[in-house]
Amino acid sequence: MQDFIDQANKNGVTLLNKGRCQFCDADYQKGIFDCMDNYNNGLQLLDFNNSEHHISRFLSVDAHALQHPEIHGRWSNHFHLTRLNLILDQNQTWDYKKSPMLSDYLNAYKLNRPNEFLSIPKPLERGKITAKDLIKATTADECIALIKKWADEVYHSWSASHSIVSEIAEGFLDNIYNRKTLSRNITNRLHPSNQPHPH
Ligand SMILES: [Zn+2]
Repeated sequence: MQDFIDQANKNGVTLLNKGRCQFCDADYQKGIFDCMDNYNNGLQLLDFNNSEHHISRFLSVDAHALQHPEIHGRWSNHFHLTRLNLILDQNQTWDYKKSPMLSDYLNAYKLNRPNEFLSIPKPLERGKITAKDLIKATTADECIALIKKWADEVYHSWSASHSIVSEIAEGFLDNIYNRKTLSRNITNRLHPSNQPHPH
């Protein structure tokens, strides 16, 4: 809890604790505080032992983060928008191994870009669907479809930053591809079947 309050302070944003969420407009009583406490409630129909449901988890985390960019670090918005670009625009499959790879890539990327900021859409203009709407779903399939729609809306609202994150996404994919090719070449060289025949 303290983390997001600190981050808002750092960004000079006053957090309101009454009424609807000041960032996403979800219909709560304690504003952003309810929004942070309850955003997992709509995911209860999903089964995280089922790897097919993992993608909805990533999409929901990204959609929620990007509806509330003022309470995240600046590079965290890069991370979530790039991941949405990879999943929604570049049709990449995603799993738990890839998120730390993307973080590592961004950590290296940001060193040369002290002045790069994403253009943040105005509060309440980051997609109409909110985490609170997910509780309306009555089946896992409905929940999955709603999360996809939510992520699409939020991603669309950030269109001013799509060109930056597309480039990051392409750099990230090249990097993974090159790393795989490199390790494959090394493995192939070392594999006994690739050694010269011993005579
Ligand atoms: Zn909210």
